[in-house]
Amino acid sequence: MIDLYYWPTPNGHKITMFLEEAAVGYAIHPVDISAGDQFKRDFLTISPNNRMPAIIDTAPADLGEPISVFESGAILLYLAEKTGRFLPQDLRGRKTAMEWLFWQVGGLGPMAGQNHHFGVYAPSRIPYAIERYVQETNRLYGVLDRHLESRTFIAGDDYSVADMAAYPWIVPWRASSRIWTSFPTCGAGSTWCAPAPERSVPTQKANRTRAAPPSPRKASTSCSAKPPIERRQLDASGVEHPTSHRVTEKETTVMSSSQRQPAAEHRSIDQSKIAYQKPQPAGMVRDIFVGSALELDGDEREWVPQSDTVAFRPLILNVTQGYYINILRVRSSGVLSRHRHSGPVHALTLRGRWHYLEHDWIASPGDYAFEPPGETHTLVVPDDVKEMATLFHVTGGYTYVDPYGEALGYEDVFTKLEHAARHYESVGFGKDHLSRIVR
Ligand code: FE
Repeated sequence: MIDLYYWPTPNGHKITMFLEEAAVGYAIHPVDISAGDQFKRDFLTISPNNRMPAIIDTAPADLGEPISVFESGAILLYLAEKTGRFLPQDLRGRKTAMEWLFWQVGGLGPMAGQNHHFGVYAPSRIPYAIERYVQETNRLYGVLDRHLESRTFIAGDDYSVADMAAYPWIVPWRASSRIWTSFPTCGAGSTWCAPAPERSVPTQKANRTRAAPPSPRKASTSCSAKPPIERRQLDASGVEHPTSHRVTEKETTVMSSSQRQPAAEHRSIDQSKIAYQKPQPAGMVRDIFVGSALELDGDEREWVPQSDTVAFRPLILNVTQGYYINILRVRSSGVLSRHRHSGPVHALTLRGRWHYLEHDWIASPGDYAFEPPGETHTLVVPDDVKEMATLFHVTGGYTYVDPYGEALGYEDVFTKLEHAARHYESVGFGKDHLSRIVR
């Protein structure tokens, strides 16, 4: 027997779906989250994170003391292992089910939850938060939609805990017609979105009749005390059940692919809320995002020293196109270098001042300069400047020269890469710290 601590939310439905479809006997103990039941001391002993669902297995496989489990993903895995159901036995299928189970608990659930919070419950409208979570939820929907294009269920041919985890987070959104109509595979009318028992193993219908129903005593006394958040139905014995696995004739209707997504429905969607839905081109390299890229006084380990007074912070090292973008920081005055560029250079000054002996302009914070390919110039930091910092976009290389053009040395994206690799290793940054900005 499983004691299920539950309230009718998507995370709660994950567990009732499993218990119903695996025909496991269970008793519901309502945790009214609107009344703060999740903070009660007794509940914390089984769910230290103040969240339902949680379960107590009164008959664990080791025949020992009852076992409590919290976190919906952990509960699904525990029940799958206990029953030997809904988790592929083969290595690859199991791996896939685990990937998507964790994808749901770490991505889809939290993002969709925040989306709902800022869109519905937040006491004030925060456009940035709304936009952020709408976009991210949309992106996650798209990820699942593309994954299901070539599969019957998330882990392949068989229904698994990965489907149970994602399904309750999709049905409410589908019903709301807010976003889902743009996702043919798991949106309205999809076979995957068909109600759970209908898309499960057909024999589950027979098994379900043998499943122990929720405890009438416990369910009827406490579930009915306060109207649940979501629509519920009564079964023949008058016991309430969550509706995610109770199917109406209308809900079981499965449209063919030709019936999916009327064009008018597409047009009714606010296109400004929908991320690009098609695959990105083959061979495309990964994007780069560097937070606080112009932060000059942050973590000193980000700065790669080239001498006692000169350091750079790389933002991208593009070895396939031979360019890099870095912030050069100089804490000394006088001639820094005389150099010739083989490619174009763009310079945006962030702090201090500097100039070239060959030009009459002086670069100050906010100033931009273009340095044409082929030019040789002499960079000087004025005596009264304690620190100069400038963002340089450099294509090609520097050749360091004397006043008459004799080569003294060179620098390019590869020497920058070597410097950065040595430095980041020396300060304990992992390899990812550099590889994230190399393309
Ligand atoms: Fe230059």
